[in-house]
Amino acid sequence: MAAPSLLIYLDGNIVPESEAKISVFDHGLLYGDGVFEGIRFYNGRVFRLTEHLERLYESSRSILLNVPLNFEEMEKAVLDTIAANNLRDGYIRLLITRGVGPLGLNPYQCPKASVVVIASSISLYPQEKYDLGLTMVTCATRRPSPAALSPQVKSLNYLNNIMAKIEAIQGGGEEGVMLNEQGFVAECTGDNIFILKRGEVLTPPIAAGGLDGITRRVAIELLAELGVPLREVNLTRHDIFTAEECFLTGTAAEVIAGVMLDRRPIGTGKPGPLTKQLVEKFKALANSTGTPITYP
Ligand code: PMP
Repeated sequence: MAAPSLLIYLDGNIVPESEAKISVFDHGLLYGDGVFEGIRFYNGRVFRLTEHLERLYESSRSILLNVPLNFEEMEKAVLDTIAANNLRDGYIRLLITRGVGPLGLNPYQCPKASVVVIASSISLYPQEKYDLGLTMVTCATRRPSPAALSPQVKSLNYLNNIMAKIEAIQGGGEEGVMLNEQGFVAECTGDNIFILKRGEVLTPPIAAGGLDGITRRVAIELLAELGVPLREVNLTRHDIFTAEECFLTGTAAEVIAGVMLDRRPIGTGKPGPLTKQLVEKFKALANSTGTPITYP
């Protein structure tokens, strides 16, 4: 059975999926010139909406992209799109493209940015992977240097991460560990990474080149509640090989164990007790907090 048609927010209107079209002259398509967010909603509330929108506006500001909606209007566009689709649980893809312009790359020739909100669902991995954990592969593709483009800009150009994801899959895994130019662990292709070692949780500092993930921030809060010490420190592959547990965090993946890296089991090779505890705490928090959606 075909998936039911969705209602999409596009530049001020909520239209059927079949009418939600972007020009082939949009610089988001031509050059990856734009920014995006992935946001989840649970049980009729949008999880960490303000933080996601703040990051979206920061990405836009960093690339001199004029967002045609203010913060409140953007929040309303998100909530209205979910309500129009009458969804209680799901995933939002919010994107802002530079808009239509001539074929040259000059963004000043694109008079108006486009805003798209898709309220749908996402399922990165089958339940089995949440029960058994992910197999990870170290990717040869490095995170780009912040001197090229800040890793904090969540831009529409994800080719770097896509190359790394291809390597992970070709290497027999589901997720790839991405190193920075110095060879320290930055993050995974769509998630931040944590390890447990000698009673302490370690994660790379944002300066190592990973995204300042919102689920990463939530995990840090939950670890503090559990009284587990956390340190942001440069990590190498060796640190992951010798960790007791490893888990990844991201809006789409949520909290999930990493149990193998480059054919070495991490700890017991199964999701560890701390990871399991965090998964449960994350679910409880996500299902009980957030910006409420008003349904018609
Ligand atoms: N790193 C990258 C490269 C990502 O694309 C994502 C997903 N947005 C994350 C980390 C996790 O960030 P968040 O928890 O905000 O979804």
